[in-house]
Amino acid sequence: MIDLAPYAVSERNTRGRVVAEDAPHGRSEFQRDRDRIIHSTAFRRLEYKTQVFVNHEGDLFRTRLTHSIEVAQIARSVARRLRLNEDLTEAISLAHDLGHTPFGHAGQDALHDCMRDHGGFEHNLQSLRVVDLLEERYAAFDGLNLCFETREGILKHCSAENAAKLGDVAERFRNKQRPSLEAQIANLADEIAYNNHDVDDGLRSGLLTLEQLGEVRLFAQHLNAVRNQHPQLPERRLIHETVRRMINTLVSDLMRETERNIAAQNLQTLDDVRAAPALVAFSDTVREQSRELKSFLHAHLYRHYRVMRMSAKARRIIRDLFHAFMEDKRLLPPQFQRQTEAESARAVADYIAGMTDRYAIREHRRLFAVEEG
Ligand code: MG
Repeated sequence: MIDLAPYAVSERNTRGRVVAEDAPHGRSEFQRDRDRIIHSTAFRRLEYKTQVFVNHEGDLFRTRLTHSIEVAQIARSVARRLRLNEDLTEAISLAHDLGHTPFGHAGQDALHDCMRDHGGFEHNLQSLRVVDLLEERYAAFDGLNLCFETREGILKHCSAENAAKLGDVAERFRNKQRPSLEAQIANLADEIAYNNHDVDDGLRSGLLTLEQLGEVRLFAQHLNAVRNQHPQLPERRLIHETVRRMINTLVSDLMRETERNIAAQNLQTLDDVRAAPALVAFSDTVREQSRELKSFLHAHLYRHYRVMRMSAKARRIIRDLFHAFMEDKRLLPPQFQRQTEAESARAVADYIAGMTDRYAIREHRRLFAVEEG
Protein backbone atom coordinates (compact mmCIF):
# COMPACT_ATOMS: atom_id res chain seq x y z
CA MET A 1 0.00 0.00 0.00
CA ILE A 2 1.22 3.50 -0.82
CA ASP A 3 2.06 5.82 2.06
CA LEU A 4 -0.47 8.60 2.23
CA ALA A 5 0.71 12.20 2.05
CA PRO A 6 0.67 13.87 5.50
CA TYR A 7 -2.16 16.19 4.40
CA ALA A 8 -4.35 13.32 3.10
CA VAL A 9 -7.41 12.34 5.10
CA SER A 10 -6.63 9.19 7.01
CA GLU A 11 -7.91 7.06 9.85
CA ARG A 12 -5.56 9.03 12.09
CA ASN A 13 -6.99 12.49 11.40
CA THR A 14 -10.64 11.67 10.63
CA ARG A 15 -13.29 13.40 12.71
CA GLY A 16 -15.08 10.07 12.79
CA ARG A 17 -18.72 9.02 12.79
CA VAL A 18 -21.72 10.59 14.53
CA VAL A 19 -22.54 7.27 16.21
CA ALA A 20 -19.36 5.60 17.49
CA GLU A 21 -18.73 2.12 16.09
CA ASP A 22 -16.10 -0.59 16.53
CA ALA A 23 -13.22 -0.34 14.06
CA PRO A 24 -13.82 -2.42 10.93
CA HIS A 25 -11.94 -5.71 10.42
CA GLY A 26 -9.88 -6.19 7.29
CA ARG A 27 -10.78 -2.86 5.69
CA SER A 28 -10.33 0.80 6.47
CA GLU A 29 -12.99 3.18 7.79
CA PHE A 30 -13.25 4.77 4.35
CA GLN A 31 -13.53 1.42 2.60
CA ARG A 32 -16.42 0.75 4.95
CA ASP A 33 -18.04 4.03 3.90
CA ARG A 34 -17.68 3.12 0.24
CA ASP A 35 -19.10 -0.35 0.87
CA ARG A 36 -22.12 1.06 2.71
CA ILE A 37 -22.81 3.41 -0.18
CA ILE A 38 -22.66 0.58 -2.74
CA HIS A 39 -25.07 -1.50 -0.64
CA SER A 40 -27.59 1.34 -0.23
CA THR A 41 -30.98 1.44 -1.93
CA ALA A 42 -30.36 4.94 -3.26
CA PHE A 43 -27.23 3.70 -5.05
CA ARG A 44 -29.14 0.96 -6.89
CA ARG A 45 -31.75 3.49 -7.94
CA LEU A 46 -29.09 5.51 -9.80
CA GLU A 47 -29.28 2.89 -12.53
CA TYR A 48 -32.71 4.16 -13.49
CA LYS A 49 -32.16 7.90 -13.16
CA THR A 50 -31.46 10.29 -16.00
CA GLN A 51 -28.09 11.86 -16.56
CA VAL A 52 -29.05 13.76 -19.74
CA PHE A 53 -31.05 11.14 -21.61
CA VAL A 54 -34.08 9.66 -19.90
CA ASN A 55 -33.52 6.08 -18.91
CA HIS A 56 -35.81 4.51 -21.53
CA GLU A 57 -34.41 6.53 -24.47
CA GLY A 58 -31.63 4.04 -25.17
CA ASP A 59 -29.66 1.29 -23.50
CA LEU A 60 -26.20 2.71 -24.16
CA PHE A 61 -26.54 6.20 -22.70
CA ARG A 62 -25.04 7.06 -19.34
CA THR A 63 -27.29 6.81 -16.35
CA ARG A 64 -26.50 8.33 -12.97
CA LEU A 65 -25.05 4.98 -11.96
CA THR A 66 -22.56 4.68 -14.80
CA HIS A 67 -21.80 8.39 -14.46
CA SER A 68 -20.97 7.90 -10.76
CA ILE A 69 -18.72 4.94 -11.56
CA GLU A 70 -16.87 6.99 -14.20
CA VAL A 71 -16.42 9.82 -11.69
CA ALA A 72 -15.01 7.35 -9.17
CA GLN A 73 -12.60 5.90 -11.74
CA ILE A 74 -11.19 9.32 -12.62
CA ALA A 75 -11.07 10.51 -9.01
CA ARG A 76 -9.25 7.37 -7.84
CA SER A 77 -6.57 7.70 -10.50
CA VAL A 78 -5.88 11.28 -9.46
CA ALA A 79 -5.97 10.52 -5.72
CA ARG A 80 -3.57 7.61 -6.05
CA ARG A 81 -1.06 9.61 -8.05
CA LEU A 82 -1.15 12.39 -5.44
CA ARG A 83 -0.87 9.93 -2.53
CA LEU A 84 -4.28 10.89 -1.23
CA ASN A 85 -6.98 8.70 0.25
CA GLU A 86 -8.34 6.76 -2.73
CA ASP A 87 -11.08 5.08 -0.70
CA LEU A 88 -12.44 8.39 0.53
CA THR A 89 -12.50 9.99 -2.90
CA GLU A 90 -14.17 6.87 -4.28
CA ALA A 91 -16.82 6.97 -1.55
CA ILE A 92 -17.56 10.65 -2.21
CA SER A 93 -17.70 10.06 -5.98
CA LEU A 94 -20.09 7.13 -5.71
CA ALA A 95 -22.35 9.04 -3.30
CA HIS A 96 -22.28 12.49 -4.87
CA ASP A 97 -25.48 12.07 -6.89
CA LEU A 98 -27.50 9.88 -4.50
CA GLY A 99 -29.89 12.77 -3.84
CA HIS A 100 -30.63 13.52 -7.46
CA THR A 101 -34.28 13.60 -8.47
CA PRO A 102 -35.56 11.65 -11.47
CA PHE A 103 -35.07 13.38 -14.87
CA GLY A 104 -31.77 15.09 -14.14
CA HIS A 105 -31.53 18.84 -13.75
CA ALA A 106 -35.01 19.49 -15.07
CA GLY A 107 -36.41 17.36 -12.25
CA GLN A 108 -34.28 19.07 -9.63
CA ASP A 109 -35.27 22.56 -10.82
CA ALA A 110 -38.95 21.65 -10.80
CA LEU A 111 -38.76 20.22 -7.30
CA HIS A 112 -36.83 23.25 -6.07
CA ASP A 113 -39.59 25.42 -7.49
CA CYS A 114 -42.30 23.40 -5.74
CA MET A 115 -40.36 23.63 -2.46
CA ARG A 116 -39.79 27.39 -2.70
CA ASP A 117 -41.92 28.18 0.37
CA HIS A 118 -40.56 25.21 2.30
CA GLY A 119 -36.77 25.71 2.26
CA GLY A 120 -36.15 24.72 -1.37
CA PHE A 121 -34.55 21.58 -2.74
CA GLU A 122 -30.80 21.19 -3.37
CA HIS A 123 -29.59 17.87 -4.72
CA ASN A 124 -26.28 18.06 -2.86
CA LEU A 125 -28.04 18.56 0.39
CA GLN A 126 -30.40 15.74 -0.54
CA SER A 127 -27.43 13.41 -1.14
CA LEU A 128 -26.33 14.19 2.41
CA ARG A 129 -29.89 13.64 3.67
CA VAL A 130 -29.89 10.21 2.01
CA VAL A 131 -26.70 9.07 3.73
CA ASP A 132 -27.48 10.79 7.05
CA LEU A 133 -31.14 10.00 7.39
CA LEU A 134 -33.18 8.46 4.62
CA GLU A 135 -31.47 5.11 4.19
CA GLU A 136 -33.09 2.84 6.74
CA ARG A 137 -30.95 -0.28 6.86
CA TYR A 138 -28.89 -0.41 10.03
CA ALA A 139 -30.13 -1.41 13.45
CA ALA A 140 -28.20 1.16 15.47
CA PHE A 141 -28.69 4.35 13.44
CA ASP A 142 -30.60 6.06 10.66
CA GLY A 143 -28.71 6.60 7.43
CA LEU A 144 -25.27 5.09 6.81
CA ASN A 145 -23.38 6.76 9.68
CA LEU A 146 -20.50 7.73 7.36
CA CYS A 147 -17.27 9.41 8.43
CA PHE A 148 -17.28 13.19 8.70
CA GLU A 149 -14.97 13.69 5.69
CA THR A 150 -17.18 11.58 3.42
CA ARG A 151 -20.28 13.55 4.44
CA GLU A 152 -18.50 16.85 4.09
CA GLY A 153 -17.30 15.87 0.61
CA ILE A 154 -20.83 14.96 -0.47
CA LEU A 155 -22.03 18.43 0.52
CA LYS A 156 -20.37 20.10 -2.44
CA HIS A 157 -22.49 23.26 -2.45
CA CYS A 158 -24.83 24.63 0.12
CA SER A 159 -26.71 27.89 0.51
CA ALA A 160 -25.72 30.22 3.37
CA GLU A 161 -29.15 29.65 4.88
CA ASN A 162 -28.72 25.87 4.92
CA ALA A 163 -25.10 26.11 6.07
CA ALA A 164 -26.34 27.96 9.15
CA LYS A 165 -28.66 25.07 10.04
CA LEU A 166 -26.46 22.11 9.24
CA GLY A 167 -23.97 21.97 12.11
CA ASP A 168 -20.37 20.85 11.77
CA VAL A 169 -20.70 19.16 8.36
CA ALA A 170 -21.27 22.62 6.83
CA GLU A 171 -18.69 24.35 8.99
CA ARG A 172 -16.41 25.04 6.04
CA PHE A 173 -19.09 27.11 4.30
CA ARG A 174 -19.37 29.32 7.36
CA ASN A 175 -15.59 29.58 7.85
CA LYS A 176 -14.89 30.01 4.13
CA GLN A 177 -12.58 27.01 4.19
CA ARG A 178 -11.92 24.28 1.66
CA PRO A 179 -12.84 20.60 2.01
CA SER A 180 -10.20 17.84 1.79
CA LEU A 181 -8.21 17.39 -1.42
CA GLU A 182 -10.08 14.09 -1.83
CA ALA A 183 -13.38 16.01 -1.97
CA GLN A 184 -11.93 18.59 -4.35
CA ILE A 185 -10.79 15.78 -6.65
CA ALA A 186 -14.24 14.15 -6.68
CA ASN A 187 -15.70 17.52 -7.64
CA LEU A 188 -13.45 18.01 -10.66
CA ALA A 189 -13.66 14.34 -11.64
CA ASP A 190 -17.43 14.89 -11.85
CA GLU A 191 -16.89 17.72 -14.32
CA ILE A 192 -14.39 15.73 -16.42
CA ALA A 193 -16.71 12.73 -16.51
CA TYR A 194 -19.89 14.53 -17.54
CA ASN A 195 -18.33 16.83 -20.11
CA ASN A 196 -16.76 13.87 -21.87
CA HIS A 197 -19.55 11.35 -21.61
CA ASP A 198 -22.08 13.96 -22.69
CA VAL A 199 -20.03 14.50 -25.85
CA ASP A 200 -20.07 10.76 -26.43
CA ASP A 201 -23.79 10.37 -25.68
CA GLY A 202 -24.59 13.53 -27.66
CA LEU A 203 -22.88 12.08 -30.73
CA ARG A 204 -24.41 8.66 -30.23
CA SER A 205 -27.90 10.15 -30.04
CA GLY A 206 -27.34 12.22 -33.18
CA LEU A 207 -28.13 15.45 -31.29
CA LEU A 208 -24.52 16.54 -31.79
CA THR A 209 -22.40 16.13 -34.92
CA LEU A 210 -18.64 15.81 -35.36
CA GLU A 211 -18.77 18.88 -37.55
CA GLN A 212 -20.32 20.99 -34.76
CA LEU A 213 -17.80 19.71 -32.24
CA GLY A 214 -15.04 20.81 -34.59
CA GLU A 215 -15.52 24.32 -33.20
CA VAL A 216 -14.49 23.14 -29.71
CA ARG A 217 -10.69 23.38 -29.48
CA LEU A 218 -10.16 20.56 -27.00
CA PHE A 219 -12.19 18.18 -29.16
CA ALA A 220 -10.89 19.38 -32.53
CA GLN A 221 -7.23 19.03 -31.61
CA HIS A 222 -7.64 15.36 -30.68
CA LEU A 223 -10.08 14.58 -33.49
CA ASN A 224 -7.61 15.89 -36.06
CA ALA A 225 -4.71 14.00 -34.51
CA VAL A 226 -6.67 10.72 -34.54
CA ARG A 227 -7.81 11.31 -38.14
CA ASN A 228 -4.25 11.93 -39.23
CA GLN A 229 -2.90 8.83 -37.53
CA HIS A 230 -5.83 6.58 -38.48
CA PRO A 231 -7.50 7.91 -41.64
CA GLN A 232 -9.71 4.83 -42.17
CA LEU A 233 -11.11 4.57 -38.64
CA PRO A 234 -14.87 3.90 -38.45
CA GLU A 235 -16.78 6.75 -36.80
CA ARG A 236 -17.62 5.01 -33.48
CA ARG A 237 -13.95 4.25 -32.91
CA LEU A 238 -12.93 7.71 -34.03
CA ILE A 239 -15.27 9.21 -31.42
CA HIS A 240 -14.15 6.94 -28.63
CA GLU A 241 -10.46 7.46 -29.39
CA THR A 242 -11.00 11.25 -29.41
CA VAL A 243 -12.96 11.25 -26.16
CA ARG A 244 -10.46 9.02 -24.39
CA ARG A 245 -7.63 11.38 -25.40
CA MET A 246 -9.64 14.35 -24.12
CA ILE A 247 -10.13 12.65 -20.76
CA ASN A 248 -6.45 11.83 -20.65
CA THR A 249 -5.48 15.45 -21.37
CA LEU A 250 -7.80 16.77 -18.66
CA VAL A 251 -6.76 14.22 -16.04
CA SER A 252 -3.02 14.61 -16.72
CA ASP A 253 -3.30 18.39 -16.60
CA LEU A 254 -5.27 18.22 -13.36
CA MET A 255 -2.64 16.00 -11.75
CA ARG A 256 0.27 18.21 -12.84
CA GLU A 257 -1.33 21.50 -11.88
CA THR A 258 -2.51 20.15 -8.52
CA GLU A 259 0.95 18.78 -7.73
CA ARG A 260 2.38 22.20 -8.51
CA ASN A 261 -0.20 23.92 -6.30
CA ILE A 262 0.45 21.55 -3.41
CA ALA A 263 4.20 22.10 -3.67
CA ALA A 264 3.77 25.89 -3.80
CA GLN A 265 1.70 25.86 -0.59
CA ASN A 266 4.18 23.73 1.35
CA LEU A 267 1.31 21.71 2.82
CA GLN A 268 1.96 19.78 6.02
CA THR A 269 -1.42 18.87 7.44
CA LEU A 270 -5.10 18.52 6.61
CA ASP A 271 -5.70 21.83 8.37
CA ASP A 272 -3.32 23.45 5.87
CA VAL A 273 -5.50 22.06 3.07
CA ARG A 274 -8.60 23.58 4.66
CA ALA A 275 -7.00 27.00 5.06
CA ALA A 276 -5.43 27.10 1.57
CA PRO A 277 -7.26 28.20 -1.58
CA ALA A 278 -8.73 25.41 -3.76
CA LEU A 279 -5.67 23.44 -4.86
CA VAL A 280 -7.15 20.80 -7.12
CA ALA A 281 -7.33 22.67 -10.41
CA PHE A 282 -6.61 22.70 -14.12
CA SER A 283 -3.93 24.92 -15.63
CA ASP A 284 -5.27 28.20 -17.04
CA THR A 285 -5.16 26.96 -20.64
CA VAL A 286 -6.96 23.71 -19.96
CA ARG A 287 -9.48 25.38 -17.65
CA GLU A 288 -10.38 27.69 -20.49
CA GLN A 289 -10.69 24.78 -22.93
CA SER A 290 -12.85 22.85 -20.51
CA ARG A 291 -15.07 25.89 -20.06
CA GLU A 292 -15.42 26.19 -23.82
CA LEU A 293 -16.52 22.56 -24.05
CA LYS A 294 -19.00 23.06 -21.24
CA SER A 295 -20.62 26.09 -22.85
CA PHE A 296 -20.79 24.24 -26.16
CA LEU A 297 -22.70 21.43 -24.44
CA HIS A 298 -25.05 23.95 -22.83
CA ALA A 299 -25.84 25.62 -26.11
CA HIS A 300 -26.07 22.55 -28.34
CA LEU A 301 -26.98 19.56 -26.20
CA TYR A 302 -28.73 20.59 -22.99
CA ARG A 303 -30.81 23.12 -24.92
CA HIS A 304 -31.44 20.92 -27.93
CA TYR A 305 -35.17 20.91 -28.64
CA ARG A 306 -35.42 17.18 -28.11
CA VAL A 307 -33.80 17.48 -24.68
CA MET A 308 -35.98 20.52 -23.92
CA ARG A 309 -39.12 18.55 -24.76
CA MET A 310 -38.14 15.81 -22.35
CA SER A 311 -37.25 18.42 -19.71
CA ALA A 312 -40.63 20.11 -20.09
CA LYS A 313 -42.38 16.79 -19.66
CA ALA A 314 -40.21 16.01 -16.64
CA ARG A 315 -41.06 19.32 -14.98
CA ARG A 316 -44.74 18.69 -15.55
CA ILE A 317 -44.56 15.22 -14.00
CA ILE A 318 -42.68 16.47 -10.92
CA ARG A 319 -45.03 19.44 -10.42
CA ASP A 320 -48.16 17.33 -10.86
CA LEU A 321 -46.94 14.75 -8.38
CA PHE A 322 -45.91 17.33 -5.81
CA HIS A 323 -49.18 19.25 -5.93
CA ALA A 324 -51.34 16.12 -5.96
CA PHE A 325 -49.61 14.84 -2.81
CA MET A 326 -49.76 18.20 -1.07
CA GLU A 327 -53.45 18.63 -1.85
CA ASP A 328 -54.40 15.21 -0.55
CA LYS A 329 -51.89 13.61 1.83
CA ARG A 330 -53.91 10.40 1.81
CA LEU A 331 -52.52 9.67 -1.67
CA LEU A 332 -49.06 9.23 -0.13
CA PRO A 333 -47.72 5.90 1.08
CA PRO A 334 -48.25 5.92 4.89
CA GLN A 335 -44.55 6.25 5.74
CA PHE A 336 -44.48 9.65 3.98
CA GLN A 337 -47.62 11.09 5.62
CA ARG A 338 -46.96 13.94 8.10
CA GLN A 339 -48.95 16.33 10.28
CA THR A 340 -47.79 19.85 9.46
CA GLU A 341 -47.55 21.54 6.08
CA ALA A 342 -43.77 22.04 6.29
CA GLU A 343 -43.11 18.43 7.35
CA SER A 344 -45.40 17.18 4.59
CA ALA A 345 -43.62 19.23 1.94
CA ARG A 346 -40.24 17.83 2.97
CA ALA A 347 -41.57 14.27 3.08
CA VAL A 348 -43.13 14.67 -0.38
CA ALA A 349 -39.82 16.05 -1.69
CA ASP A 350 -37.99 13.04 -0.18
CA TYR A 351 -40.50 10.68 -1.78
CA ILE A 352 -40.28 12.31 -5.22
CA ALA A 353 -36.48 12.71 -5.12
CA GLY A 354 -36.15 9.01 -4.35
CA MET A 355 -38.12 7.98 -7.43
CA THR A 356 -36.47 6.56 -10.53
CA ASP A 357 -37.50 8.05 -13.90
CA ARG A 358 -39.81 5.18 -14.72
CA TYR A 359 -41.30 5.03 -11.23
CA ALA A 360 -42.18 8.73 -11.46
CA ILE A 361 -43.75 8.20 -14.89
CA ARG A 362 -45.76 5.25 -13.56
CA GLU A 363 -46.80 7.08 -10.41
CA HIS A 364 -47.94 10.00 -12.55
CA ARG A 365 -49.98 7.63 -14.68
CA ARG A 366 -51.46 5.96 -11.59
CA LEU A 367 -52.60 9.34 -10.22
CA PHE A 368 -53.68 11.09 -13.40
CA ALA A 369 -54.68 8.52 -16.05
CA VAL A 370 -58.37 7.65 -15.97
CA GLU A 371 -58.02 4.11 -17.28
CA GLU A 372 -55.74 2.91 -14.47
CA GLY A 373 -56.37 2.73 -10.77
MG1 MG B 1 -22.42 14.19 -11.03
